[in-house]
Order: sequence, then structure tokens, then C-alpha cells
Amino acid sequence: MKDVEKLWLLQELESKMMLIEKEAGIHELTNEIDSKKDMYKKIVSSMEKIIEEYKKTEIQIKSAEITLERIEKQINEWEQHLYEGDFKKAKTLNTIQSDLETQRENRKKLKKNIRYLSQQMKNDKLNLKKLKDKSIEVKKEIHDKKKKMEIILTESKDALMSVEKEISDVKKDIETKSLEYYYKKKEKDSPVIVEYRDGVCTGCNMQFSMILGRTMTPAMETRSYFCENCGRIVIVPLDPTLES
Ligand SMILES: [Zn+2]
Repeated sequence: MKDVEKLWLLQELESKMMLIEKEAGIHELTNEIDSKKDMYKKIVSSMEKIIEEYKKTEIQIKSAEITLERIEKQINEWEQHLYEGDFKKAKTLNTIQSDLETQRENRKKLKKNIRYLSQQMKNDKLNLKKLKDKSIEVKKEIHDKKKKMEIILTESKDALMSVEKEISDVKKDIETKSLEYYYKKKEKDSPVIVEYRDGVCTGCNMQFSMILGRTMTPAMETRSYFCENCGRIVIVPLDPTLES
């Protein structure tokens, strides 16, 4: 594989960068901010649902009140007629009385329903208030964490920039094809380049096959192989004892 030594260096620099970020707490803080943002989104979506429900209930109450008004009017009319003895025929009287009973029953049900719906609206309002408070709290937390991030980034800026510069310099010297291979592999198998130690790929801990193993003696120059098990680049580092 071409550019192995440069890729190895790139990998080292990238770990160094990760370490600086880790020590500064950047990753942790990024995760915290993301999770707070998710929480905020969920709260807003819950609030939207409640508002929708609230509006529906409001319409239901209005329509129930209109019906109630109509029924009340009807009941009053019939009661007035009955009081004044306007219905002479027994048959009519019976019908009216039975209808009156039905409407009184309807009135009772409607009032109960309106009470229930009003209570629901009260609950919705209460929940909305709670969510609103929570959303303000979470928003403030996000704001504070972002502020903290700015400070951390400023503090570690110099160290990060210097490694970033080294990384971009190394990358300039590596062929695009090699870089593409490296980053594609890195997505699922990190680190991509590992050392060969005691006949084992230190990436996946698989023993190298006998034939390959025998050929993998420490050399004066860096030699690289693909691990037949995990596909990582396995390098045999320069052995200083063989020099001179
Ligand atoms: Zn391996």
C-alpha cells in the first residue's frame, strides 16, 4: 500500500486531535448540547399537540353551548305552555311531557359534557404552562452550554489549530485514492492502521496465517500488509535493533 507511513502519521495526528478535544471536554459538551436540543424539540412538539387539542376542545364547547341554549329555550317554551294549560288534548300533553323529559335528560348530559371539556381545557392550560417553563429552562441550558463551548474552544484553539495545520500538511502529501480508502475504512474500523505484534493483528487480534506470519519478520523499512481477517493495514514498524 502506498502512503502507509503518511497515513500512519495522519492517524496519529487525528488521535492527538481527538485527545485534545476529549481533554477539553468538547465531545462531551457537544453531546450534551445535542441532547438538550432534542429535548427542546420534543417539548415544542408536545406543546403544539396540546394547543391543537385545546383548539378542538374550544370548538366542541362552543357547539355544545349553542345546542344547550337551543334546548333550554325549547324546555322553557314547553314548560310555559304546560303551566298555562295550552295543551288540551291528552295525547298532545303526553307527547310534550315525554319530549320534555328527553330534553331535560339531554340538557343534563350536555352540561356534564361541557363541565368535562372545560376541565380538559384547564388541564391543557396547566400542562402548557409547565412545558413552557421547561422549554425556557432548557433553552437557557443550551445557551449556557454554548457559552461554555466558546470558552473551551478559545482555550484549546491554539493547540487544535496547530494539529489541524499538521493534518492538512500531511494530507497534501497523500494521494487522494489512499485518503479515500483510509476515511472509508475509518468509518467502520478505527484505527485503520495497526501494528503487527507477536504474529497478531492488533486491530482484530487474529493470528496471521503461518505463511504470511513467516514472511513478517522485522524489517529495516516499514512494511505493510492487509489483515486477511479485518482488512486493516497492518504495519511492521522499523526495528531499531537491526540498525547499524
Ligand atoms: Zn485484523
